[in-house]
Amino acid sequence: MDLFKESLNRYRLRRTGEMQVDGLVFINEHLLPLVKRDKSLEQLCAAASLPGVVGHVCGMPDIHEGFGLPIGGVMATAEGGVISAGAVGMDINCGVRLLNTNIQAKEVPIPVLRKLLQKIEEYVPTGIGKKSKHRDMDGKIFESVIYQGAGSLIERGCGWSDDLKNTEEKGFLSGASLEAVSRKACERGKEQLGTLGGGNHFIEVQIVEEVYSRVEGDLFGLLPGMLAVMIHTGSRGFGHQICTDYSRSLLGAAKRHGIDLPNRGLACAPVDSKEGRDYYAAMACAVNYAFANRQMITHDVRRAFGDVFGCPPETLGLKLVYDVAHNIAKWEKHNGKKILVHRKGATRALPPGHPQNPPSYIETGHPVLVPGSMGTASYVLTGTEKATESFYSANHGAGRKMSRKSAIKEISRDQFESSMMGVLYNSRNYKELLDEAPVAYKDIDQVVETLVAIGMVRKIARLRPLGVIKG
Ligand code: 5GP
Ligand code: MN
Ligand code: MN
Repeated sequence: MDLFKESLNRYRLRRTGEMQVDGLVFINEHLLPLVKRDKSLEQLCAAASLPGVVGHVCGMPDIHEGFGLPIGGVMATAEGGVISAGAVGMDINCGVRLLNTNIQAKEVPIPVLRKLLQKIEEYVPTGIGKKSKHRDMDGKIFESVIYQGAGSLIERGCGWSDDLKNTEEKGFLSGASLEAVSRKACERGKEQLGTLGGGNHFIEVQIVEEVYSRVEGDLFGLLPGMLAVMIHTGSRGFGHQICTDYSRSLLGAAKRHGIDLPNRGLACAPVDSKEGRDYYAAMACAVNYAFANRQMITHDVRRAFGDVFGCPPETLGLKLVYDVAHNIAKWEKHNGKKILVHRKGATRALPPGHPQNPPSYIETGHPVLVPGSMGTASYVLTGTEKATESFYSANHGAGRKMSRKSAIKEISRDQFESSMMGVLYNSRNYKELLDEAPVAYKDIDQVVETLVAIGMVRKIARLRPLGVIKG
């Protein structure tokens, strides 16, 4: 593998063998050794060999090894190319939402913060396999969510009309069809709407620690010293089951269509084949489900704030700043051409003036939400015109540095506690959280600065966790 430094924080993986296009990796010298330890660069090269791949296959600075495309990877295919379940990821439309508030953090004493976390946990089931508290006996809510996305919940009173404006794709991707989804996936989906899920997913109460650009900060409603709430979750067992089903069936499809797969994780089919269309339809179901899942949780978080502060949630701000997907494949126009952009652990970051921005963010570009870890900062960024090579994409987080297994084995209690820096957490036993310890993730400041230095993104605000509910 030939990794060649072309310019500041920008490396080229030159085309060799079956690769159709070059790879581009956006990374700095501090992070590069971490990437060389795992198979992520090989995985980028493998993805570059799929039929119909265009531009460059890109690695973001939070890149790490995944199943198929690495996490922190972007791959685009042209019409006539393929769609791959492994290039979208297991948790279809996993993503991040940020709510602002008009509450000064210093006016919230620790016992109130603790009460708030408890109340949120009372309303939002957390942990793997947990069932919804919102009853949907006949499956009607489930079906309306699949075909209308987050908007269907707002119609039912679980949200505010402005929420949709500030959700990527307005919380709805067209082309969903339950005919392409297995019964098992539907059964899991019906039970889990409005639940957080396990492990890496979280609801975090944060303080806006620093605002780098007043104009955007004011527009996003992020002022220094204020509370904010970040929500990270996806399509739960529903999307997971869809990915599992299609990772298997697309292996056969690839064979039928004469595609020589570089690895099983990149199972795919031509986008315009029956199998490819079916996967897209199933993926769109999970995309809509995930937007709705984050909407339902938003509703419950607002209720919890209202209860704890003893006033209507509307009076506390709690506006949706933005909702971004980071595991998704979407048709987009780049350089006048329609292409299917797969982002797996990567966030769309449109520049100012781009017509796909919500009207209120057209002049700044939409907020790009980048969580760090439960003991370090998270960032709000905006995109720039310089990110054309990554199809207007940025990183989706800090990215893992240690596997779950080695985190559990190697991180001591002292190390864990000191890295949490006093952040409140829901788990009763720190051991349950070791695999999510801040030191298991890369340095978020380094990751963000990598793209800032090239001018691919701009920093708007830095958020610091005060209390976290982990799944
Ligand atoms: P993923 O979707 O790949 O599981 O995670 C996205 C990113 O979220 C991770 O790369 C990590 O940087 C970040 N992250 C994981 N856990 C937490 C948390 O508890 N709080 C915050 N703020 N970020 C987290
Ligand atoms: Mn995620
Ligand atoms: Mn996820």
